[in-house]
Amino acid sequence: MWLTLLLFINGFLWPHLAYWLSLRARDPKATELRNLLLDSALGGVWIALMGLNALPSALIVSMMGMNNVAASGGRFFFRGLLLQMAVMGAMLLLLRLPVSVATTLLQVYICLPMLVVYPVFLGQVTYQTAIKLAQHKRKLMEISTHDGMTGVYNRRHWEHLLRNEYDNCKRYKRMATLLLIDIDHFKTINDTFGHDIGDEALLRVTDELRLTLRASDVIGRFGGDEFAVIMPETPSLNALLAMSRVRDNLQENRELLAPLTAIHISVGIAQYMPEMTSYREWLKAADVALYRAKNGGRGRTEIALASTEAK
Ligand code: GH3
Ligand code: MG
Repeated sequence: MWLTLLLFINGFLWPHLAYWLSLRARDPKATELRNLLLDSALGGVWIALMGLNALPSALIVSMMGMNNVAASGGRFFFRGLLLQMAVMGAMLLLLRLPVSVATTLLQVYICLPMLVVYPVFLGQVTYQTAIKLAQHKRKLMEISTHDGMTGVYNRRHWEHLLRNEYDNCKRYKRMATLLLIDIDHFKTINDTFGHDIGDEALLRVTDELRLTLRASDVIGRFGGDEFAVIMPETPSLNALLAMSRVRDNLQENRELLAPLTAIHISVGIAQYMPEMTSYREWLKAADVALYRAKNGGRGRTEIALASTEAK
């Protein structure tokens, strides 16, 4: 009678109590691990009480083992197993319990459902954890490579892609053009209309770049009001034409950004040149061209004349 009561408490009350304890704990993980060790110890009690009946005992060892290894790895599994064996041995010796290893057919049938259901259930939990981890990883990857506000690549990742493009151009003698785009008098937009409109202007430029340029063009935000684009397989004159389309659309400002009526941009363009010795030199050439566009009155696009301009 008291054994049945104990079994009921262990099977139906203890899991809820354990869950409640770890939810309330200051360190839920440590509490959960302690709960699992207690589970293992209780498993040892039941194995001893069953007189080492082979199949249900093996079932208990494997269930607790699965829990422990899934929760905290191999070392924890061995800790649980050791504790379980110690409790079992102590019970057998102290209470002088009878040992009867043979499992009857009825006992086999009773064990079968648990034997099937438990691993499947644990497999499902493991699968869900793996899916969740993959989602987190994707999200982290997205956060670490993209600009939070505009959704285009951030500077660090964009530069990484630029370096790849530079390497490809060098190795396969390909063509590519790099553009640096800076909004004109963006400070004035912020100061006159407020930061919200400033932010909207940044999003407007991003949208325009996305819609107007090719899907293969690589857009990044360099920080502040500066954007950068890599156009693979594109000569600088085609990049210039693409930019004039972007510029026209921004000035028309079809999706009206009231009260801002037009956004003006300055652009520096540099085509890859075989004599360039690093991707930084390529970037510098575009930067110098952008500087020239700003100095030349803004609202214009300048093309780097030769890589020597960067030096
Ligand atoms: P210029 O024509 O010479 O480019 O003048 P400018 O006023 O655009 O000067 P600059 O490019 O140096 O200004 C960048 C400004 O962008 C400075 C900063 O206040 C603003 N800014 C940077 N990041 C953000 C942002 O995320 N949102 C908003 N609204 N403003 C930003
Ligand atoms: Mg600016």
